[in-house]
Amino acid sequence: MRQAGLLVWQAHHEAAALVQPGVTTAEIDRVIEKFFAAHNATPLFKGVKGKVPFPAVTCISINEEVVHGIPGARRLKVGDVVSLDTGCKLDGWCGDAAVTRAVGPVAPEIQRLLDVTKATLHLSIELMKVKSRWSQVAAEMEKYVHDHGFHVVETFVGHGIGREMHEEPQVPNFCSKQFLKKGDFDLRPGLVIAIEPMVNMGTGKVKGLSDHWTQVTKDGRPSAHFEHTVAMTKDGPVPLTLGPNGEDV
Ligand code: MG
Repeated sequence: MRQAGLLVWQAHHEAAALVQPGVTTAEIDRVIEKFFAAHNATPLFKGVKGKVPFPAVTCISINEEVVHGIPGARRLKVGDVVSLDTGCKLDGWCGDAAVTRAVGPVAPEIQRLLDVTKATLHLSIELMKVKSRWSQVAAEMEKYVHDHGFHVVETFVGHGIGREMHEEPQVPNFCSKQFLKKGDFDLRPGLVIAIEPMVNMGTGKVKGLSDHWTQVTKDGRPSAHFEHTVAMTKDGPVPLTLGPNGEDV
């Protein structure tokens, strides 16, 4: 899974250079599609079932778009924040990671949203070293986000990952009574999960657009999304979607 994760990191690395004013989201998607094809990796997102199959290799979500944005003719502009989420299968194993990047300088409050969301992801990985149940990690993630004045999206959650992109268990970024009752799980060696906090500047509420995929904030304020595939080992958590020398996406 590390090899698949490394390719996902490299795809993000290639795409990062394109996150510039004037570039269309379809151009970014095409670069990632070509990269996976050149490395004999199968993209995970293209064809994912829904009312219409997801048509691209990457979910690209701008500003108030939370997740599952469809790449197209829209051009990035200075001040946008753009979430890129992609995954691939290599030799039968999956990797999945997301990053939200700023296009040029963005408003300080928006930069803080990105920083807090990224820090929430890294907090969760750190906490996996010392906690025994996911609910303990998720509760701290939720608290961290609230303490910074933002809100966790509850409609979408992370997931187990392995032979398939979406496996059990569900991995929420918050802790509800319902999760404690029937969804909680042990952090034991062999577990591999995609942790993906989605954080909104305003309320946590989202709604779907008529393209059947794009999710936007209900209040129209910006959202950020960061994700790593993380393996639990006997020596603690190991992020699988970092670069060759442990660089972040
Ligand atoms: Mg994911």
